[in-house]
Amino acid sequence: MAQSFRALLDLCKRRGFLYQSAEIYGGLRGAYDYGPLGAELKKNILKSWWQRNVYLRDDVVALDTSILTPAPVLKASGHVDEFSDLLVDCILSKERFRPDKAPQLQFTKKGDIAIEAPTKEAAMAWKTRIEEQLAPGALVQQEGKQLLLAVDSFEAPAQEGAEGRIVLKSNAQPITVPYHGYVEPGSNSPFLTASRPFNLMFKTFLDPIDPIDRVIQVTKSHTGPGPVRQAVDDALLPSTVYLRPETAQGVFINFEQVARTMNKKPPFGIAQVGKSFRNEIRLEHGIFRTPEFEQLELEYFVAPWEAHHWFTYWRNQRFQWWLELACHKERFRQRDHGAGEMAHYASGCTDVEYEFPWGWGEIEGVAHRGNYDLTQHMQHSSIANFEVLDDSPRPSSDLVDTCDMPDTPTRYVPHVIESSCGLNRAMLAYLCDAFHQIKDGKQQQPRSVLRLHPTLAPIKCAVMPLTGKAEFMPLVDKVTRSLRRRGWYTVVEAQKLKIGKRYYRHDEIGTPWCVTVDYQSLEDETVTIRERDSGEQKRLHWREVQQFVGEQLLGDDE
Ligand code: ATP
Repeated sequence: MAQSFRALLDLCKRRGFLYQSAEIYGGLRGAYDYGPLGAELKKNILKSWWQRNVYLRDDVVALDTSILTPAPVLKASGHVDEFSDLLVDCILSKERFRPDKAPQLQFTKKGDIAIEAPTKEAAMAWKTRIEEQLAPGALVQQEGKQLLLAVDSFEAPAQEGAEGRIVLKSNAQPITVPYHGYVEPGSNSPFLTASRPFNLMFKTFLDPIDPIDRVIQVTKSHTGPGPVRQAVDDALLPSTVYLRPETAQGVFINFEQVARTMNKKPPFGIAQVGKSFRNEIRLEHGIFRTPEFEQLELEYFVAPWEAHHWFTYWRNQRFQWWLELACHKERFRQRDHGAGEMAHYASGCTDVEYEFPWGWGEIEGVAHRGNYDLTQHMQHSSIANFEVLDDSPRPSSDLVDTCDMPDTPTRYVPHVIESSCGLNRAMLAYLCDAFHQIKDGKQQQPRSVLRLHPTLAPIKCAVMPLTGKAEFMPLVDKVTRSLRRRGWYTVVEAQKLKIGKRYYRHDEIGTPWCVTVDYQSLEDETVTIRERDSGEQKRLHWREVQQFVGEQLLGDDE
């Protein structure tokens, strides 16, 4: 599985889906550029989401809000104080990681602790550090890049957050090292700093004066009794802005304007697609977790007594969308959060997860957020009023939790059902889902095929002259133009390669159909159309090609 993931990443780089950002300058950790085919794939996922959640509905409108977000917005939403993960440093490797995602301590068969250093030299330096500072006198043995620590006894933490202990053998008294239930993932090292919260937001300053100059001024003139840090924060606060960590807050603060200008009343939704930024402690699995990513979010506003109904509705709707575009439906699942996992204001949350080569990972969250966000902004802003008047007939429809519905028309702050999907994770999930390595006949090496749903495929059609002879080109042009007019990305594939090789090159990037103009075409204006997954070919008049592709492509929506 890991091998095939490497093969997929290699394909993505080789065929123009994904590049390391700023590669010619050594690359930027966690940043990726989407090549021509990656950009198309991403856009097609977005288009499908938009079609489903905006264009096919009467009750959803769209919005596009600023990425730069003033501090008071994110103070009100709770992000300034609470949007943090715990962070731990390994004293030996200096790696930073999130303890909630880190593995437990592993023991060798003999019951020792094996710590893996990157090199022999590092192992030697780590050994000295342990023997002299971290566990003076402990018995540490070096075998190449590995250190073996002899264990006297071990006690796991009684519960999450509690402290257990590792007792190491030594020549004199055994040495006790505290153990919190996790180790540094890369080395199995239990020598860690205490955990501390780390805010995930990128802070920046909207100010013509360089913030560093302000810091210098403040620190030079700071004489008061308070801490310098506080003085610096106070000086920077007026110009502090954040790169938004989710697109949702832009929707909440515009709720009243959208409702008024578009004449909408709950139940209705506001969709927003755009970039979000999180200073993640650990970047992992290529584009799965990156500091800059795109979200497809829908905030659906409802009356409190209809919230339960709409949560169930959106939970199902969103999962259906994932399945419709999937090749292996069994690799997608829904996971309901337990009460302890949810934000305190949420009363329901379901993740959509995909079974990546390294295990199940979240690709979308659907949450019943109550009226927390709108209420917070009403409390923190002096002018916001997000109450709406419910004047629907009573008794209302069967959507309603009648026990919660007031008897007479009343004002209320809408509740929100949110679906939040990561576009980059969606791309990774669908690439993993579509990636197949197959062996044809006597072939030694398998070849790769991306069985992407035609809706997602970057290139819809490749049109090919059978050989390089000029006489095929007029018909090639005609077919190509007829497909391009419909808005389908169509390429002419006239490379000097055998036709079979050209088909395989397009299988590898997921092109669902290849159209070939051959000698018979010159006589009767028919062409062949080859289907990617079955390899089947059929002959039709060139004018019928666009109808054929249209039926396959749009069939689901019509
Ligand atoms: P995780 O637990 O993986 O950090 P999360 O629960 O913090 O995710 P949400 O805040 O619910 O994520 O964000 C909604 C969606 O945005 C996620 O389901 C995911 O698809 C995407 N997402 C969140 N953080 C990142 C990231 N750093 N890189 C790429 N996509 C992300």
